[in-house]
Amino acid sequence: MRYSKLVEVYEQLSSTTKRLEKIKILSKFLRYLPEDDKDVLYLLLGDIYPEYSEKKIGISNQLAIKAISKATGINTTQIVKKWKSIGDIGQVAELLIAEKKQSTLHSHILTTEKVLTNLRKLPELEGKGTVDKKIALITELLTSAKPKEALYLTRTLIGDLRIGIKESTIREAMAEAFFDKSKEASKQIQDAIDKTNDLAFVFSVAKKGKLKHFEKISIEIGKPVKVMLAQKVKKIQDGFEAVGKPCAIEYKYDGFRLLIHKKQGEIILFTRRLENVTRQFPEVVEYVKKYVKGHSFILDSEAVGFNPKTKTYKPFQEISQRIKRKYDIEKLQKELPVEINVFDIMYYNGKSLIKEPFEKRTKILRKIIKNHPYKIISAKQIITSDEKEAEEFYKKALEENQEGIMMKNLNAPYKPGSRVGHMLKIKPEERDLDLVIVGAEYGTGKRSGWLSSFILACLNDEDKKKEKFLEIGKLGTGIKEKTEQGVSFHELTKKIKPLIVEEQGKKVKIKPKIVVAVTYQEIQKSPNYSSGFALRFPRFTALRPDKNANDISTLSEIKKDYEEQK
Ligand code: AMP
Repeated sequence: MRYSKLVEVYEQLSSTTKRLEKIKILSKFLRYLPEDDKDVLYLLLGDIYPEYSEKKIGISNQLAIKAISKATGINTTQIVKKWKSIGDIGQVAELLIAEKKQSTLHSHILTTEKVLTNLRKLPELEGKGTVDKKIALITELLTSAKPKEALYLTRTLIGDLRIGIKESTIREAMAEAFFDKSKEASKQIQDAIDKTNDLAFVFSVAKKGKLKHFEKISIEIGKPVKVMLAQKVKKIQDGFEAVGKPCAIEYKYDGFRLLIHKKQGEIILFTRRLENVTRQFPEVVEYVKKYVKGHSFILDSEAVGFNPKTKTYKPFQEISQRIKRKYDIEKLQKELPVEINVFDIMYYNGKSLIKEPFEKRTKILRKIIKNHPYKIISAKQIITSDEKEAEEFYKKALEENQEGIMMKNLNAPYKPGSRVGHMLKIKPEERDLDLVIVGAEYGTGKRSGWLSSFILACLNDEDKKKEKFLEIGKLGTGIKEKTEQGVSFHELTKKIKPLIVEEQGKKVKIKPKIVVAVTYQEIQKSPNYSSGFALRFPRFTALRPDKNANDISTLSEIKKDYEEQK
């Protein structure tokens, strides 16, 4: 397909902010898009493979500038100057390519295949001469590009497409294009996305136009599946009411979610954000090989850190560094070992289990795992109808320093990607929230040079007309001045700087990427923040690199907390 055709769609999409219009534009395009060109779906989201793939384009502004310079013959200093005055490298590329095209006539036709081929070579390059090879691949595309094509190519390179669509927009567009906007189709399409996380694949199924084709889509080992999420209840009684009697009750371990795949002897580990973290946890790979039976499976588990000397469990923030760290892995593994607590199984020896009742899944799980405390165990569990017994179990979980309990309906299936009412969490009242940082302010005095006050936001799940993230307060407490003491201003500033989208005096606005756990004393109504609420005395407790902005506390949860505190 011609790249210009896709660029037309990008243009149409960026000309409107209305979601319904975007869906319409996309659905028209999807109807036209041949199945053979399904990988264009990745380009629509500014990517080259499904989101979970580790192969990303990853081109810095600097490198993009060098390539533009090479393609146009204009030196980088001049390009940087233009960039500073225009503010968007994409537009700079558009302008310079337009000027260049007036003087030279040759022009090739750029296809989406060619764009994908070159972009897909970028993450494969390694070693000496990588930078030059990358520049050559990009320059080749830019010299064939028309001005508008150069605009979107450049934006794609630097990961900032600015057309305002996401996975859910594409889902609705597929439902509109192939199923006449049917609600059921929209649900099935989302199901298929949650199972496969591959939009191009789901498109090829949807294009057939028959719902029955969705039934055949199964989860696949080796490809990350979105995890099932829990709803919250306050009391055991409410829990029983929601999941029925008898139900399974398990310890709620306080660590991070880990999905464990085994396929032909190979173990692959994913976080709930679908990141592949196999390399970071060699000991887990070994435990799974040794202590779990079966030639293929997908397990759902919680990894909990503990002190190797005292064997006491550690709070999440102390082991979070293991998720990101790519060096010194051996050393870190000794200092911060993890125990794997397996609580569900989605696939076993060639068969998906997600439609099977929890009772059956948990039985299989307990059969195939050989418990080795401080290595790998199946989650501590009771099956009961008795409220007293449940209370005792809850007490014991807390005494053993776990976070609380989970209550699970024995007949329920595994629903990838959904927050379900058949798996519930209960934890003691402690007033904490996961929020995302959307802005910050530079400090003064001792803290000058650092961003020292952080604007927090919750997820808007109520009012479609308002922005997706609503501000709810400013955070400055709980962050350290010295890095050795914990998460520092310096560290946060470093994380935030590349995410800045707008600067005004001391204030910056940033992309909503950094999720933090905070505690607070009270929620108050407040006209100062777009959520209508403000946190009193918010205090930072941890970075949550394992969560993304869609997983944070929602406005309706906050309203509920507000009502309950009254
Ligand atoms: P929350 O992160 O507060 O929404 O609580 C749900 C999380 O608890 C899940 O995403 C898991 O990471 C974690 N968890 C710990 N133990 C269990 C368990 N036995 N069953 C299910 N989830 C668990």
